[in-house]
Amino acid sequence: MAKYYLPRGMSYSTLEERKQFYTAEFSLPKVHEWLEQVRGKAKFAVVIGRHTKIYPEKYREDAGTTIIIDEYRGLDEVRDYMTEFLPEASYYDRNVYDENDCKKGQELAFDLDPENITCPIHGTLTDKMQRHQGLSFCRLELDMVKEQAASLYEYLEAQFSSMKIVYSGRGFHIHVFDSEAYAFSPKKRRQIARKVKEKGFQIDEWVTAGDMRLIRLPYSLHGLVSRVVVPLEKGELGGFDPVHDKRCLPKFLGSARVIS
Ligand SMILES: [Zn+2]
Repeated sequence: MAKYYLPRGMSYSTLEERKQFYTAEFSLPKVHEWLEQVRGKAKFAVVIGRHTKIYPEKYREDAGTTIIIDEYRGLDEVRDYMTEFLPEASYYDRNVYDENDCKKGQELAFDLDPENITCPIHGTLTDKMQRHQGLSFCRLELDMVKEQAASLYEYLEAQFSSMKIVYSGRGFHIHVFDSEAYAFSPKKRRQIARKVKEKGFQIDEWVTAGDMRLIRLPYSLHGLVSRVVVPLEKGELGGFDPVHDKRCLPKFLGSARVIS
């Protein structure tokens, strides 16, 4: 039984579906390629069942915790963790560390979520929170957040040259890979976040400012909506429909659960 309302065609993944995805579909070469453009060895994190309350019984105690995965030999072993934990959400750490595990920079990112959109039907984020529907979203909010992502990308193009948009399962992320952006101070990041807000973009300031260092792992499964997190080119965004787009439909959905 879904606690949050979601666009028609989106729903929670079962444990069996998560297992199918991480065993047979989770693409390690693609994850590797994504992380290569960012750094050397990344830290990962998972949340097993904080929002969905769906978790393997043996992990009941840890279902709501963010579990950091930083001790692993290769991505194969990371996948082993995924098939063991069967998480509702997987992340990587945007911090870049040196060989002594000291932070030497952070990937700059912008997080646009549909709940921050003021919806003509569902109201503001405050309205949604009062109804305990902070993670819910509708089709209209999804379309509006997509438009915001496209215009934020255009706005950022004046400052940065290497960026990627990622469909995050609910909204969109913009990742900045320009080398100088990795070295920005916390103060500079806060200024950027404030300025983007002032321009009218509904971003999550915590992510841009760097207080929240984890970000959704591309090519992982978003277990609240049963969609694969996928990077997109800016030009692909306009026609992108996450309810039906094949790139983000996990195989376990078949066609039965995707209703138009
Ligand atoms: Zn709405």
